Amino acid sequence: ATPTAVMVASGMGASQGVLIKGGDALEKAHKVKVVVFDKTGTLTVGKPVVVSAVLFSDFTMEEFYDMTIAVESSSEHPLAKAVVKHAKKLRKKFGSNDEEVPDVKDFEVQVGAGVSGKVGERTVLVGNKRLMHACNVPLSSEVERYMSENEILARTCVLVSIDGKIAGAYSVTDPLKPEAKRVISFLHSMGISSIIATGDNLATATAIANEVGIDEVFAETDPLGKADKVKELQMKGMTVAMVGDGINDSPALVAADVGMAIGAGTDVAIEAADIVLVKNSLEDVITAIDLSRKTMSRIR
Ligand code: ADP
Ligand code: MG
Repeated sequence: ATPTAVMVASGMGASQGVLIKGGDALEKAHKVKVVVFDKTGTLTVGKPVVVSAVLFSDFTMEEFYDMTIAVESSSEHPLAKAVVKHAKKLRKKFGSNDEEVPDVKDFEVQVGAGVSGKVGERTVLVGNKRLMHACNVPLSSEVERYMSENEILARTCVLVSIDGKIAGAYSVTDPLKPEAKRVISFLHSMGISSIIATGDNLATATAIANEVGIDEVFAETDPLGKADKVKELQMKGMTVAMVGDGINDSPALVAADVGMAIGAGTDVAIEAADIVLVKNSLEDVITAIDLSRKTMSRIR
C-alpha cells in the first residue's frame, strides 16, 4: 500500500479503537486464513470467580482455606486472585480476620502448573493435575470425577494438596465475552478458521471451543508452545493472526503475521503486537481484517 493509503486506513482504524502500528500488518491482514485466540482474557472476560469449593480429606474447611490463602496470596495469577478472594470471604465465618495471611516459606511458581510453599511444617501445592502428577500426589476417583464434571462446563479446577495428599479443590468459572460466538461464526463466513491456544487443560478448552464454534483446540501449552503453533500453521502456507492479552502471548504475537493485542492487555503484549484492539471487543478482529481488505482492494 502507498504511504497515503496506510495513513488513511490507520486514521480510520484509530477512530474505531483499532491502532495499527505499521503498513506491514495492514497489508497482511486481508490474507489471514486462520486466527489463533488465547483463552483467558481474550475469549473470556478474564475475571475468574469460584463457583464451588470441596474438601477431599480430614482437614477442616478452615485449614483448607488458610493453606490456600497462605500460598496463593504470593501469586499474581488470575486464578490465584479468585481463590484467595473466595477463601478469605468464607474464612471470616470461622472468625478469622480477613486481611491476615499465614506465613509461607520457600514459595515457588511452577510455570503453567501452579504454586508451592511451606506453611508451618506443612508442604502445600496449589495448581492443576499436571502439578500434582509432577509431585507424585495421587488423585482419587472422587477427585477425578469432580474435575471432569466441572471441566465439561468450561470451568477450571484448582487442586490443593497438603503433605502429599489432595486436601480439596476449587472450581472456577470465567465467563465468555458476549460477542465471542458471533465473531467466530462471522470469521467462518469470511473463510477464516479459528484455534484456541491455552495453558489450561484440554477438557475446559474443548468445552469453550464447542460453545463458541472454534475449529481446533491447542491446550496445556506454554508461551513458546503457542508461538510454535503459529509457526507450524505458517509452514503450511497460511497467513496467521494471533489475538492475545497477556505476557504469555507475546512470543506468539511476535511470530504471527498479524499480532493483535486486545483490551487493557499487558504492556508486554501491546509492545509485541502489530495491532492494538483498544475497546477489548473481539468484533474488532473483524474490523481490522475488513480495513485491510478495503485498503488493499482500493489499491489494486
Ligand atoms: P493460562 O493463562 O492460559 O491459563 P498459564 O500458563 O498461566 O496459562 O497457566 C496454566 C495453568 O496452570 C492454569 O490453567 C492453572 O491450571 C495452572 N496455574 C498456574 N498458576 C496457577 C496458580 N497460581 N494457582 C492455580 N493454578 C495455577
Ligand atoms: Mg490471556
